[in-house]
Amino acid sequence: MNYQQILQEISNEVSTFPNTGEVANYIPELAKVDPKKFGIHLTTVNNEHFAIGDSEDRFSIQSISKVFTVAMAFSLLGDQLWKRVGVEPSGNPFNSIVQLEYENGIPRNPFVNAGALVVVDVLLSELKDAERDLFAFVQSLTGVSDITYNPIVAQSEKETGYLNVAFVNMMKAKGNIENDADEILDFYYKQCSIEMNCRELACAFLHFGENGKAYDHAGFRLTKSQVKRINALMLSCGFYDESGHFAFKVGLAGKSGVGGGIAALYPEEFAVAVWSPKLNKKGNSVRGFNSLELLTTKTGASLF
Ligand code: GLU
Repeated sequence: MNYQQILQEISNEVSTFPNTGEVANYIPELAKVDPKKFGIHLTTVNNEHFAIGDSEDRFSIQSISKVFTVAMAFSLLGDQLWKRVGVEPSGNPFNSIVQLEYENGIPRNPFVNAGALVVVDVLLSELKDAERDLFAFVQSLTGVSDITYNPIVAQSEKETGYLNVAFVNMMKAKGNIENDADEILDFYYKQCSIEMNCRELACAFLHFGENGKAYDHAGFRLTKSQVKRINALMLSCGFYDESGHFAFKVGLAGKSGVGGGIAALYPEEFAVAVWSPKLNKKGNSVRGFNSLELLTTKTGASLF
């Protein structure tokens, strides 16, 4: 498969579409990003690398980080984790609070904000230094040691994250939060404001597609079956309330973030990350979505 030529064709085709959508302006720091940025990196299980555009620029990975934290929490608690957070698509925006009240403070899945906050609560309860362990985990997945978070973005989120404060407190009132709300929120904003480039994300996600290999990163071990379940969550819940549409049009497991990134994988074959900051109304990168749809059309890659 000539992936480099396919990435070139995708880039050419996508650049002829109008650059529609809006950058994530509800987080003031993210609103400053250049909306014209566009990059893709694809890496195969044979350690081949193909890239195009701004694939080496680091950007705010936002909710893509939720895959890393849920992998850590699943490794720590096993199936006990699913007593605290569900595995169903929410059918609601990632920051909707309505469902959380009538479902008794148990978030639908670990990728909506409330679910990711419960996952942080687990990490803070189970680990002596959860922040250090998160960065060690990401370093182990990528082989890159200088990945960190952007404190200005984290602060910007903290100043405007009123709904996240509400989620933690609602869940605390319902008995599903153990730690101090501020500690949870501080950790959550750090994980969301981690900056990585498309290459680093593709390398990290490739590990979730190598089912035959033992999965052990920085002491966080997942069985083959657990890795399969994380992929199932990505497929069913990874794209906000557009997850069904992504499965329908693209057919890969993946996760998007409001920084405009999408990381996805085709098990036993490749992982790919794409970045373009303008988002559609559901919070997914417009060009990122288009690019992955073109990728699976051109390569015939699909989980189905
Ligand atoms: N930090 C963002 C928030 O809490 C994450 C949103 C996302 O990428 O889905 O709203």
